[in-house]
Amino acid sequence: MLKNVILKSLALVSLAGVLGGCSASNASSKAHQTSAVKTTATQSKRQKLIKALPKGVKSTDADLIVVNKWHKYNELTFHKAAVGGVTVRKSIVSPLTAFLNGAEKAGYPATLVSGYRSVQYQKEVWNESIENYEAQGKTEKQALKLTKEYVAIPRGSEHQTGLAADVMNTNWFNAHNSQLLSSSDKAKGQQWLIKHAPDYGFVLRFTKSGAKSTGIDYESWHFRYVGKSSAAFMVKHNLTLEQYAKLLQAREKAAK
Ligand SMILES: [Zn+2]
Repeated sequence: MLKNVILKSLALVSLAGVLGGCSASNASSKAHQTSAVKTTATQSKRQKLIKALPKGVKSTDADLIVVNKWHKYNELTFHKAAVGGVTVRKSIVSPLTAFLNGAEKAGYPATLVSGYRSVQYQKEVWNESIENYEAQGKTEKQALKLTKEYVAIPRGSEHQTGLAADVMNTNWFNAHNSQLLSSSDKAKGQQWLIKHAPDYGFVLRFTKSGAKSTGIDYESWHFRYVGKSSAAFMVKHNLTLEQYAKLLQAREKAAK
C-alpha cells in the first residue's frame, strides 16, 4: 500500500517534471544531492582518519618518501649496507633482519631477493626491455607500451629509496624457478610475511585494492619500510602509502 502511494507520487512528480519541461534538471538536482551526501560522508570519514593519524609522524620523514610514476626522483643519497648480500638503506638493516629472522622462527624461512637498485640500473633494465621487444619484431611504440607494463619507469621505482625489499617464502621461490609471482600468496609462508610485516615496520606496498592509487598491480612480495606506527595505521585502515602521505599532508596543512 505504502509502496503504491510512493510509486504514484513519484509518477506525479515525474509527470509534473515533464510537463514543466524540467525533468532533466530534476534528475540532475537529485544526482547532485546524492553526490553531496556522499561527499560529506567521505569528508567526515577523512577527518576522522586525520585525527587518528599516529603522533609525531610527518609526510616529510625520510622513511615515508613516496616514489612512483607520478613522483620521480634522481639518485637519492643515503647510507647503504648489506643484508645477506643484498644492499638496502642502512637504517632498515635491523628491522629487515628481524623480519627475516621472525619468518624463520615461525617455520617459514624467507629469501631477500632484491633491495636497493640505482636509477642507472633501472635505466639499463628499462632499455634492455625495449631492445628485447624490438628484437622480437615489435614497433618502438609497442615495445615502450609492453615495457611500461612490466618494468618500473626509471626514477619512478621505490627500490631506489633503499627502503623496499622483495621478500619471498624460500620454499615457494625455489619451487617456482626463482620467480616473483603474485600467486606466491597461496603459500602459507608468504601469507605469514604479509600478515606480520607491520610488526617489523613494513607494509605490503602494492595491494590489490590499492592498484589505482599506487599505479602498480598487486605484488605479494614487495615490502616497504615505513616504521611500526605508520605500518599499523596503514594496514588497519587499508591505505596505500600515497593515501597515507596525503592524510599526513592534510594534517600538517591544517596545523599551520
Ligand atoms: Zn619490488
